[in-house]
Amino acid sequence: MAINIEKIREDFPILSRSVNGKPLTYLDNAATTQKPQTVIDAIVDYYTNYNSNIHRGTHHLSNLATEAHEAARNTIKDYINARHDREIIFTRGTTEAINLVASSFGQAFIKPGDEVIVTELEHHSNFVPWQMICERQGAHFRVVPFDENGDLQLDVLEKLLSDRTRILAFNHVSNSLGTVNPAKEIIKMAHDAGAAVLVDAAQSVQHIEHDVQDLDADFYAFSGHKIYGPTGIGVLYGKEKWLDAMPPYQGGGEMIDQVSVEKTTYNKIPFKFEAGTPNIVGPIGLAAAIDYINNFNFDELIAHEDDVLQYGFEKLGEIDGLKIYSQAKRHTSIIAFNVEGIHHYDLGTLLDTQGVAVRTGHHCTQPIMTALGVEGTVRASLALYNTKADIDSLVAAIRKALKMLGK
Ligand code: PLP
Repeated sequence: MAINIEKIREDFPILSRSVNGKPLTYLDNAATTQKPQTVIDAIVDYYTNYNSNIHRGTHHLSNLATEAHEAARNTIKDYINARHDREIIFTRGTTEAINLVASSFGQAFIKPGDEVIVTELEHHSNFVPWQMICERQGAHFRVVPFDENGDLQLDVLEKLLSDRTRILAFNHVSNSLGTVNPAKEIIKMAHDAGAAVLVDAAQSVQHIEHDVQDLDADFYAFSGHKIYGPTGIGVLYGKEKWLDAMPPYQGGGEMIDQVSVEKTTYNKIPFKFEAGTPNIVGPIGLAAAIDYINNFNFDELIAHEDDVLQYGFEKLGEIDGLKIYSQAKRHTSIIAFNVEGIHHYDLGTLLDTQGVAVRTGHHCTQPIMTALGVEGTVRASLALYNTKADIDSLVAAIRKALKMLGK
């Protein structure tokens, strides 16, 4: 299907509402995306027609729910090109997926004196769990800095990698700067040093290439709500060889094989990592979101988003006193900025009065803010339904806010 942006916008009912008496301009997609009607319908259909607990059911509704849940696993597997459905584990989100790996991989493979590497570009979700496991296991926590353009300093990574490095965790796209990290190159560097790699794909899986086999990622994590699906559902992809070798993350129903007073044995993957009644409707909604994206040619979606992004850089760059952060070699979907003499929060609040939704603050990346020497930024972030008209509304709202502030 060729891209018809007006038609796409009609698919997302919330985009036609107004906020503070103005048409909504939604530019907070890195925090969460809006949902197409098909996703909303899939969720309503589940609760209306076949709500039931899954697995081990003997009745019709349970079988329908189980089939839909497992079909969703297959849709997700295809979208990221995993080898097997069993390499797809459902979690609450990226955060839980990363905590699962840090805890379980950490318990099995990170020993005192070993090293874990992350980067200064990480969301706290891909930073703090690694600090915690390093503390627990007596391992060393290493951080790759970024340069003045917002690109990772790969020469430093090269030096940090050693035969003590057990795992490198980094994001494909920075949620604060929009930097696209050269994931394939980084993964190869880590593998050459004998380290496993986790890719935080929370900001990449919906915007750029997302083939886990091509990347050769050992682990790959993302959140449903950032890719047009519901909240409360996320995905952890892991190579089978790692998932088989890792201990369970949580104990409870479903993750067991046999339980006795003497000993408990565990289920096979992915169920070993899915203790308890899962978020049943979450994967169903997420699969509907992926089906929605699959209606389009993904390269055309990327081209459209890039076009709007470049227009955003150009138009925001024309505003006096506005500083855009990050001139990274490759960029996607995010523009972070501040206006001289104005607190990011004040600017965000004034934009909201004009119906423009952006996010302000440290964006859960305090190490980035420290490196930039700021407390926070204003962040406009794009999704497939944004247009150049949204950028025009943002720019007009900023100019009006500046006038109101006497600038
Ligand atoms: N990683 C990145 C790069 C993110 O942008 C986010 C959320 O903004 C997360 C991890 C955490 O995602 P969630 O809160 O959905 O678990």
